[in-house]
Amino acid sequence: MLPFSTDQSGNASSTHDIGIAAGVAMKAARRQLQALIGANFDHEIIFTSGGTKSDNTAILSGLEVMPERTEIVTSAVEHPAVLTLCTHLEKTRGVKVHRIPVDHHGRFDLRAYGKALTHRVAIVSIMWADNETGTIFPVAELAEMAKKVGALFHTDAVQAVGKLPMDLKLTAIDMLSLSGHKLHGPKGIGALYVKRGVPFSSLIMGGHQERDRRAGTENTPGIVGLGKAAELALECMDEGNTRVKPLRDRLEKGILERIPKTFVTGDPLARLPNTANVAFDSIDGQAIQFLLNRYGIACSSGSACTSGTLERSHVLEAMSIPRARGAVRFSFSRYSSEEDVDRVLEVLPGIVEKLRDSSPLSSGQAKC
Ligand SMILES: *Cc1c(COP(=O)(O)O)cnc(C)c1O
Repeated sequence: MLPFSTDQSGNASSTHDIGIAAGVAMKAARRQLQALIGANFDHEIIFTSGGTKSDNTAILSGLEVMPERTEIVTSAVEHPAVLTLCTHLEKTRGVKVHRIPVDHHGRFDLRAYGKALTHRVAIVSIMWADNETGTIFPVAELAEMAKKVGALFHTDAVQAVGKLPMDLKLTAIDMLSLSGHKLHGPKGIGALYVKRGVPFSSLIMGGHQERDRRAGTENTPGIVGLGKAAELALECMDEGNTRVKPLRDRLEKGILERIPKTFVTGDPLARLPNTANVAFDSIDGQAIQFLLNRYGIACSSGSACTSGTLERSHVLEAMSIPRARGAVRFSFSRYSSEEDVDRVLEVLPGIVEKLRDSSPLSSGQAKC
């Protein structure tokens, strides 16, 4: 990335040498992404400023190119980049939004999906894998079903790209979102895959960049970084199963053995290899996260209800996980180690015990 922010900082739209060099580097990055997701053509990749921008672009484009259709199908557990937009469209444009439910393990309700699919649906947007539980949805199958009613199919694959092997050219998926920082790339850069021939309407109007599909000067250093991250992710894909998953399983097993009244959320059979979302009876996830942070352990909390100021995770809510269970998510990568896991297993039992001793949730005083 460094040369493209310093001595080679040309604009790819310019025809002088440093501009042309930027264009060549961007083309290479497009090919690296094409290889990672199995796109047919490199120009099916449009660079954006991240997952959120890709999600918004795809859904708004779907509505725009199918003006005679006014419905969207999505799931109850999407990232806010999809759900917040859908709620906004519902309120301001009278779009009808179907939010397909999930079961207790976070598994997608195929029957409800089949019912929601009609010729009124412009676009379906279902995530490839859930960012809170790691549950994987059968998007190739869902895309085939959408195609039968003539609806476009978009998938938010921000969590899946780089972790699951993909060959988009063999699927009916029309659009796919990905984000740099979720695969060890830079923040503020991402891409939207749009299959060749799929009608598309640009969200951002202006110059002719990205073949008129995303106006504005490209973030060349970010794009080069994303391309390299994609190349490395493809090279290291096997490590997901050989190294990352065993570490994740070791942590989950260790927690379940050491801490009572604890369970792992998400689909036990179809889950990303790097995600461990663990729910604990009677305590707040935010409190666990806060105390783990003191030991230099960074995790995410899925739920918090005791303070009254914090929102509970809509994903756990959709899975009907009782409110008195706090959840914490640990994310692994090829940079995680056994020592990391051992350290968590060393300090977490004491933290949970301490919190349970002092928790209003364990004495039945919880208000939520
Ligand atoms: C992180 C994430 C996003 C948002 O991506 P940004 O690059 O941060 O805009 C969207 N969807 C999912 C599933 C994510 O995990």
